[in-house]
Amino acid sequence: MPKDGFSRRAVLKGGALLSLGCAFPSVVYGAERRTVLNDASRLNPTPVLRHLTLGGRGSTVLLETLRVELKAAAAEGRPVCASAARHSMGGQSIPRDGLAVTLTGDQPEVDSATLTCRVSAGTRWSQVIRRLDPLGLSPAVMQSNHDFAVGSTFCVNAHGWPAPHGPFGSTVRSLRLLLVDGTLVTCSPAENAELFGLAMGGYGLFGILIDLDIAVTPNLVLVPVVQRMEAGRFAQAFMEAVEGDPQTRMAYGRMSVARKSFFRDALLTVYRPLDKQPATLPAAVSGGFLNTVSRDIYRAQIGNETAKHARWLAETRLNPALGSGIATRNSLMNEPVSNLANTDMRRTDILHEYFVPPERFDDFLEACRAIIPKARAEFLNLTLRYVGADPVAVMAYAPSPRIAAVMSFSQEASPVGEVDMMQVTEQLIDRVVGLGGTFYLPYRLHARRDQIAAGYPRLAEFIAAKRRYDPGLLFRNAMWSTYFA
Ligand SMILES: Cc1cc2nc3c(=O)[nH]c(=O)nc-3n(C[C@H](O)[C@H](O)[C@H](O)COP(=O)(O)OP(=O)(O)OC[C@H]3O[C@@H](n4cnc5c(N)ncnc54)[C@H](O)[C@@H]3O)c2cc1C
Repeated sequence: MPKDGFSRRAVLKGGALLSLGCAFPSVVYGAERRTVLNDASRLNPTPVLRHLTLGGRGSTVLLETLRVELKAAAAEGRPVCASAARHSMGGQSIPRDGLAVTLTGDQPEVDSATLTCRVSAGTRWSQVIRRLDPLGLSPAVMQSNHDFAVGSTFCVNAHGWPAPHGPFGSTVRSLRLLLVDGTLVTCSPAENAELFGLAMGGYGLFGILIDLDIAVTPNLVLVPVVQRMEAGRFAQAFMEAVEGDPQTRMAYGRMSVARKSFFRDALLTVYRPLDKQPATLPAAVSGGFLNTVSRDIYRAQIGNETAKHARWLAETRLNPALGSGIATRNSLMNEPVSNLANTDMRRTDILHEYFVPPERFDDFLEACRAIIPKARAEFLNLTLRYVGADPVAVMAYAPSPRIAAVMSFSQEASPVGEVDMMQVTEQLIDRVVGLGGTFYLPYRLHARRDQIAAGYPRLAEFIAAKRRYDPGLLFRNAMWSTYFA
């Protein structure tokens, strides 16, 4: 390299780019091109100083590498954030100008006698199902899609639709967490219990999760029963099906999103075990659940009321008439996100989720009918799930049983689309919090701080504990700076 830092090749390359009319040549003299990470929203391009991809369950190499990196980042005052699939939507998985660590997975170790599975934090649920399925076992709780990592599932304390369960954290028996000073600690409801409750739904702010022992359950062939009903009857029917019927193993609800019948027409689907379980269960397949809505019909709903009616017709009439819907538990959970994915770069799919006390569910529907149809964003889907009470997580979203309302919007990827989404979110949160419910944190960071404090009453305790366990604020992401700093 010449003394002045300009190599002949760089000058020629820069000149060529400028002569092509490129206003922002990608060669910047004297600097390296930055690594920019984004998440599933595609709305969070964020520069990071370094991006490492690491794997290997609790191996000495993994732990030593992380310890060296933590020390270096602390010395430079840079943030560190571990993550996996980056499907959170508000930069929760990205440290601006810091060290981003993407954890990969490996083969889970299964103990069939204790129905426990040891999994490294970066292991995707698809890998877990692939390992458990031939053994006749199934995850006790996971999200509705298999692309996410098990460690992230704990860090957001995700829930699924197996019933009657609380969030995923309730099925974690113990875990190992690498703290800010490089110490590896075991946490469980009995050991380092405070840290266990903080890290559960703690968005990686308390340390890097290395591995977890999770509960598994026998896989089963399940049979669905589908009931269509007026929306006002849904909450009671759903709670009775989940809490009152011990045979119910999985359950979800849907509502019509066509404007004429918006949130007025409901569908309740309850899965119970087939009476005579086969000696050998069929291998898990993908697409057993979401195939109830074809991707083409689902995406055609944008700006198209006819498609919304067609989709509702398919779900309520056509599908029940076409087949039995019988599937194994593993097949129902073995769903890739890509099945309904958006490919239009001018738009992006944004999720919201609200946790509603069942007795206030009708008021919630009324609020949604008043707010959502006026939005510029297109409302694509509402799925309803049951979440049992969570007495452990400090940032619990279900202090008592809740109906979870998972919403999918298609938003314009533009500043106008962003403003619209912020306003809709603020209004919905105000109404839900007013009903004694709350909202989910892994999506866009569009809540006001007072809304977070109202929806998460132990917020001050969470922030104080963060400052106690990590006084230098080494573990940081966009959520910390936006909501908690
Ligand atoms: C299409 C779609 C469907 C979804 N369905 C559901 C659902 O059914 N139920 C539900 O509850 N949620 C659902 N979610 C939300 C989803 O569970 C979360 O966004 C989850 O975090 C995604 O996993 P991930 O591997 O992409 O996490 P990432 O986005 O990579 O990470 C999430 C958070 O966990 C932290 N983290 C991850 N790994 C570690 C680690 N090893 N150590 C420390 N911190 C770590 C990150 O820093 C970040 O704060 C859905 C999201 C999408 C996009």
